[in-house]
Amino acid sequence: RCLKLNAVSRVCSPPLENEGTQNIRLLQWNILSQTLGQHNDGFVRCPEEALTWQHRKYLIVQEILQNQPDVVCLQEVDHFKFLETVLGSQNYAGIFFPKPDSPCLYIEQNNGPDGCAIFYKRDKLQLLCYDTRILEVWRVQSNQVAIAARLQLKATGKEFCVCTTHLKARHGALLAKLRNEQGRDLIRFVKQFAGESPLLMCGDFNAEPIEPIYATILSCDILKLGSAYADMKLEREREKERCEDVNELISESIKREPPYTTWKIREDGEECHTIDYVFYTPQQLKIKNCLEFPAGDQIGKNRTPCFQYPSDHFSLVCDFELLDEPKSEA
Ligand code: NDP
Ligand code: CA
Repeated sequence: RCLKLNAVSRVCSPPLENEGTQNIRLLQWNILSQTLGQHNDGFVRCPEEALTWQHRKYLIVQEILQNQPDVVCLQEVDHFKFLETVLGSQNYAGIFFPKPDSPCLYIEQNNGPDGCAIFYKRDKLQLLCYDTRILEVWRVQSNQVAIAARLQLKATGKEFCVCTTHLKARHGALLAKLRNEQGRDLIRFVKQFAGESPLLMCGDFNAEPIEPIYATILSCDILKLGSAYADMKLEREREKERCEDVNELISESIKREPPYTTWKIREDGEECHTIDYVFYTPQQLKIKNCLEFPAGDQIGKNRTPCFQYPSDHFSLVCDFELLDEPKSEA
């Protein structure tokens, strides 16, 4: 899966413009923790060998490098040193922030805690500062984290912020409520960090678009975010305009999210959901292109992870253009 010209023409999207000084390519991906994937997740249809780090590590690196993103946001990273070394030799630098009580640590033969990571292209971007957060729920720290980074385009001096997170997993109304609270804390954290700067906020939110957190994020007055994949679909439906009414905007956006970002089979059955997102500030950034996901028959009947796809989540790749003048409201 590579965001290249033939893939682009297949979906009639604008040409690839990754090289321009105003363009930012972001790759968002839950890469599947090695320890959890191999010993905890129960991917009953995945061959054991496909789950070994020996097999997965180069597929992960390959998927990142072949897309040449300027910024890489990862979740479930429990081999940060490996990624830092390999990506470090390919013009990337990175930041890692582990979960405070990572479930990996309760499994024998773990490789340390899992957490979130941000990598950026060193020759194009300068890291100005970053901050980390253990997300709070009703003012109590949870086991989920976020990283925010302020980056500067070396060619123009323009700045933007990137934030990534991995929210609480599992189903149920109470957990949906908990994720919504984590989302509210994330918004507070990122607003304080980014101020009025252009913002990319992405991650594994573990929430389908119909969950409260999706509306919380899109209706947030202080950040004014849009969802990149949904807005790209809107762009392609040329006759449609972005809604002004926030409730309408949310329901329209829900409809345009991809059909899935994760597709796996555990003992209790098949799970095919959209739970990973790239949110952005449409007044300052224009979405130009999104990498589509492989179709069911390409993925195979055993779904993911598998020999071809090293994680149970697909990578989201988005091209943005940093706008010169922020779009005026409405
Ligand atoms: P989360 O609920 O956020 O989930 C942790 C990981 O489990 C995620 O990476 C998630 O992946 C994955 N996951 C989601 N659904 C399943 C599933 N059905 N089967 C297997 N794995 C799944 O965890 P927290 O960080 O809040 O930690 C809680 C967990 O950690 C507990 O469930 C416990 O197992 C373990 N723990 C154990 C302790 C102990 O033994 N004393 C102490 C602390 C934690 P994804 O996001 O991709 O869905
Ligand atoms: Ca997982």
